[in-house]
Amino acid sequence: PVDRAPEIQEARLKLPILAEEQSIMEAINENPVVVICGETGSGKTTQVPQFLYEAGYTSSTGAIGITEPRRVAAVSMSQRVAKEMNLSRRVVSYQIRYEGNVTDETQIKFMTDGVLLKEIQKDFLLSKYKVVIIDEAHERSMYTDILIGLLSRIVPLREKKGLPLKLIIMSATLRVEDFTENKRLFSAVPPVIQVDARQFPVTIHFNKKTPLDDYSGECFRKVCKIHRMLPSGGILVFLTGQAEVHSLCRRLRKAFPFQKNNTAGDDDKEESVEEIRKFKKSRKRKKAMTLPKIDLDNYSVIPVDEGDEDRDAETDDDVAGSDLDLDLGDADSEEDEKSDSSLPLYVLPLYSLLAPEKQAKVFRPPPPGTRLCVVATNVAETSLTIPGIKYVVDCGKVKKRFYDKITGVSSFRVTWTSQASANQRAGRAGRTEPGHCYRLYSSAVFMDFEQFSAPEITKRPVEDLILQMKALNIEKVINFPFPTPPPAEALAAAEELLIALGALKEPLMTGRPAVSEEETAKLKGKKARLLQMQRIWAGQGLLQKLGDLMVMLGAVGACEYAGCTPKFCEENGLRYKAMLEIRRLRGQLTTAVNSVCSDAGLYIDPKMKPPTEAQATYLRQIVLAGLGDHVARRAQAEELLDDKWKNAYKTALLDEPVFIHPSSILFKQLPEFVVYQEIVETTKLYMKGVSAVEPE
Ligand code: ADP
Ligand code: MG
Repeated sequence: PVDRAPEIQEARLKLPILAEEQSIMEAINENPVVVICGETGSGKTTQVPQFLYEAGYTSSTGAIGITEPRRVAAVSMSQRVAKEMNLSRRVVSYQIRYEGNVTDETQIKFMTDGVLLKEIQKDFLLSKYKVVIIDEAHERSMYTDILIGLLSRIVPLREKKGLPLKLIIMSATLRVEDFTENKRLFSAVPPVIQVDARQFPVTIHFNKKTPLDDYSGECFRKVCKIHRMLPSGGILVFLTGQAEVHSLCRRLRKAFPFQKNNTAGDDDKEESVEEIRKFKKSRKRKKAMTLPKIDLDNYSVIPVDEGDEDRDAETDDDVAGSDLDLDLGDADSEEDEKSDSSLPLYVLPLYSLLAPEKQAKVFRPPPPGTRLCVVATNVAETSLTIPGIKYVVDCGKVKKRFYDKITGVSSFRVTWTSQASANQRAGRAGRTEPGHCYRLYSSAVFMDFEQFSAPEITKRPVEDLILQMKALNIEKVINFPFPTPPPAEALAAAEELLIALGALKEPLMTGRPAVSEEETAKLKGKKARLLQMQRIWAGQGLLQKLGDLMVMLGAVGACEYAGCTPKFCEENGLRYKAMLEIRRLRGQLTTAVNSVCSDAGLYIDPKMKPPTEAQATYLRQIVLAGLGDHVARRAQAEELLDDKWKNAYKTALLDEPVFIHPSSILFKQLPEFVVYQEIVETTKLYMKGVSAVEPE
């Protein structure tokens, strides 16, 4: 029996999904797999776990697991459900990469999809769960798709064991045929339950003209107009990344200042323009005498994971060289930014990496006499429903990571979103009363949008996916029941690359006739080149030896030595969260090594010392072995005839010149040969994480 507070109970009863509780529970009781479709805000994420709990689906023998493609949703939804059910967070918990509050008592567990995938690696049958809910399946994140494929096999296996597992797939759209009509996935078509959306009409207003690039400025002008001229009701603005969100928040706060005479939400003050200016100044001064600013997120050894596009997008802000969220830009020069304090606007940012306390603010009513204005990335599209929104301002854009399948180059690009996602955004305006959506582009442009965005799995490089699947003993990745299979040639190319890097084991080489003799010879050539390069490096200084990697290692070492405090990080231009992640990753790797080599006896030294000459050599070898296909050579004389090759490098994979990124310590040095961690495309193709390979 759940003991809910009366006001919570009242709010629940208004959710459309409550009317479907009985039909949902009947379908779940009678079928191993059930699909639930319902508009964003209908109550799927917060209510379905409660239905299951009340129907006795948790007990000493199993828990309810819910996966989310975004961290922000996993954390905030677990907190919300705990609150609604009046249960401790020891019982309703979350787990995201490296962080969580799961206990032995946990019965409802929210997690990112990557976390559940790791759990399957440890326990293929997921025996600790009685129900697994895959949320936001319409987003088609790579891990979500893989999880659904795996679960389609786990469910019958659990059935055979007499310990049935229920699988619930939840989607904010009705487009679920890739799951329901894919016979390789589920031979019996799972029932689809449609939750009636109590959606009010939303009037769509298209711009006559589409702004060429300044969509952010266009958003600003539109919000100003709405706020000055239209009746009360919250405004939700969709932008593409964290830096844009902050910059628009600042402009709006300046235009419509809101003087707080109560204490509610006072911590916002830190974001006042004055404070930021001061902070920026002091940081500039300090910068000169401290470590160089290093964006450790860009050096992650972990593949971009957990489908958290905000995390990616944030990285991009740095790539483009902008001063992240501190750039005041040309905001001050705007004509219509005369501040008007008679019309207070309560402006809140919302994006994935925002601290949970700040995220939670969007759910609370704005201070009396003010209008709420949330400036968000597409976190607000389906993951979180903000109450009281009557006006949506949609820039129509989304920031996405693009991969070039042939060269493996990734870049962030702001592109038009899909029609489906634009319609989701518009829908946010009609939750509580009829609303309006202002699209800052013409209807002709909208007609050119793709209808739906393609599943991530068909676009991303699949190496890490294949490795994970091999770790699950899935040999024939080609035969895996993907909801939408990645292109066969991408799978084949990925296997070859992994073999080249020595990531897959011998049996695969021999067991795989696709590897021709020619290919084997190529691999041998690569290995020989690696060995030769390893010989070349001996006897250089550490910095020479490891290049940018040594800078990074130095930063981690210095930070650890100083006790890894937020203060140290701020003073030295390090990202505290990233440092914590690095430490946790070190812990994980240390444990992993110790468990394989019981006599290694590794431990985490809090006063990390720089590597010895010999250790640096090993490190370098590891780096090169891992980056065997990321070697670049200075442009040769004949290429230099063309100006575009000045200071450029040639890589094996690209015809275009690539350059050492200005943030690299090797930027001026221009060694003959280098290896790089990644190439990003901004104004040019840039190599990041560069180490030199000196020829003899
Ligand atoms: P769905 O998953 O179908 O999109 P949710 O279960 O997320 O719907 O949301 C149901 C309702 O609960 C929405 O009206 C939303 O505003 C509200 N809600 C969700 N999280 C919170 C929260 N932390 N505080 C207050 N209300 C919330
Ligand atoms: Mg939801």
